[in-house]
Amino acid sequence: MPAKYDAIIIGGGHNGLTAAAYLARAGKKVLVLERRHLVGGAAVTEEIFPGFRFSVCSYVVSLLRPEIIRELQLASHGLEILPLDGTFTPMPNGDYLWRVNDHARTFREISRHSRADAEIYDEYGRAMVEMGRFAKDILAMTPPDPFSKRLKDITPLIDLLKRFRALPELDRHNQLQLLTMSAVDFLDQWFETDVLKATMAASGIIGTFLGVRSPGTAYVLLHHYMGDIDGAFRSWGLSKGGTGRVSEAIASAARAYGAEIRVEAPVKHILVKDGEATGVVLENGDYFIASAVLSSVDPRLTFMKMVGESHLPDDFAADIRNYKFRGSSGKVNLALDGLPDFTCKPGAGAHLRGAISISPSVDYMERAYDDAKYGRFSRKPYMDIVIPSLTDPSVAPPGKHVMSCFVQYAPYDLRGASWDDEREAFGDAVIDAVSEFAPNLRDRILHRQVLTPLDIEREFGLSEGNIFQGELTLEQLFFLRPAPGWASYRTPIRRLYLCGSATHPGGGIMAAPGRNAAMRVLKDRTA
Ligand SMILES: Cc1cc2nc3c(=O)[nH]c(=O)nc-3n(C[C@H](O)[C@H](O)[C@H](O)COP(=O)(O)OP(=O)(O)OC[C@H]3O[C@@H](n4cnc5c(N)ncnc54)[C@H](O)[C@@H]3O)c2cc1C
Repeated sequence: MPAKYDAIIIGGGHNGLTAAAYLARAGKKVLVLERRHLVGGAAVTEEIFPGFRFSVCSYVVSLLRPEIIRELQLASHGLEILPLDGTFTPMPNGDYLWRVNDHARTFREISRHSRADAEIYDEYGRAMVEMGRFAKDILAMTPPDPFSKRLKDITPLIDLLKRFRALPELDRHNQLQLLTMSAVDFLDQWFETDVLKATMAASGIIGTFLGVRSPGTAYVLLHHYMGDIDGAFRSWGLSKGGTGRVSEAIASAARAYGAEIRVEAPVKHILVKDGEATGVVLENGDYFIASAVLSSVDPRLTFMKMVGESHLPDDFAADIRNYKFRGSSGKVNLALDGLPDFTCKPGAGAHLRGAISISPSVDYMERAYDDAKYGRFSRKPYMDIVIPSLTDPSVAPPGKHVMSCFVQYAPYDLRGASWDDEREAFGDAVIDAVSEFAPNLRDRILHRQVLTPLDIEREFGLSEGNIFQGELTLEQLFFLRPAPGWASYRTPIRRLYLCGSATHPGGGIMAAPGRNAAMRVLKDRTA
């Protein structure tokens, strides 16, 4: 007889684990099935080279919901977030821009470029915090269904509109601009310094196949601005031990509540009988029965591969086929035997402890996108770099360092070439681009790991290598994520739920989709 569970969760990424923890906490018998040899998905720490521990994919934490940290007592399960202070942007003319959390220092620094920008910078920050505050409550809610004919279903939407109307006029105006404008157009209204706008606009394009001048990118800017660590707005941090520690802490909480977690257990099929999910079959033929099945895997894999199109309503199948992934990011992880030395600010100062942004001008950013539009990886890419070993020495041998380079653009579909042939050329382009600002880098490299979107798809099961399980663009957010009418974590297959980043509120180490989905299952009394 196959084992029977209240809930089976497909995928042991941080969202699957979060759903498992909440369901187990509610007394349910829960099984998590993870394809890889370790849990974490895109939030994982691995020793790629002996002695060097990398946050292989995601590298910084900000969006992780404080209520989840508290409710699952993640600190007691080993979660520790270390502050990541500042963003340093080297410039080709030998200057730089360096913003830190210290107000007076940042004011002085921006003043070197523009006094007017320094003066308005705080006001901008306050406006974004206000907008973040409005949007923040939306993160924890199950999106209302505007297509529903039942008043009960659209009441939360009416409440949201009422809240919107109660905002001061300026905030309402800003919200609408964020929803419709490009990151650069939005920032142009506030600032004049090119390098400042380029670096700030960068958050608008992370994980999307859009450029800083593409409409709709202003919203993603807010998404990235909204993070908080235990209530402290806008701070990004490093997870001690790498981002895998976040997943391990959630897994530890789930186990403490009684959940069972199996690794090297790839799911092949979701069993469907009379329109209802009844369990799962593994690649090795083992199968398990469950009252509810939750998939944290993206919708293409969940529905097209594991369920099968024949079980789906035609319109839903079409929506899933049209759901956009369009991976545009790569990652280069470096093991170093010393620190990079930036020509514009030599030495091993505090500027290396925060984020290092390769975004010297708006045109540089847009040209990086131009390459991608025509099917090439950026010859001079945008990069978000961190050196976690400076803050957390546990991740590298003494005196050595790990350097993480998040890179855009690396389009999944290369025109006339294959990623298997272009991987090393892409890695070289990344090293060349950093070396323009830190010429000693090449000599410091002991090992490098180059991840293309194809590698991200193959290794981490993210279709087309999209880092958020589907683009965070307006037509795929809130009540449209992943498909109109199906943003409530339920699916057209009864007792089958989605609980990963392809559901509201989307990607990032946030854990909100996992928690929201578990709450849905408990409310439905399915498990
Ligand atoms: C390169 C990169 C950089 C990123 N940087 C950041 C960052 O700095 N900060 C941030 O907040 N976010 C970042 N992100 C995004 C963030 O990591 C993801 O949005 C988040 O980790 C996704 O979590 P998830 O649990 O929803 O899905 P996933 O982590 O994708 O988990 C899904 C799990 O399902 C497993 N699986 C797949 N198929 C099967 C199967 N058939 N059977 C069983 N298991 C299966 C996978 O192995 C995986 O473990 C980044 C992502 C990438 C790829």
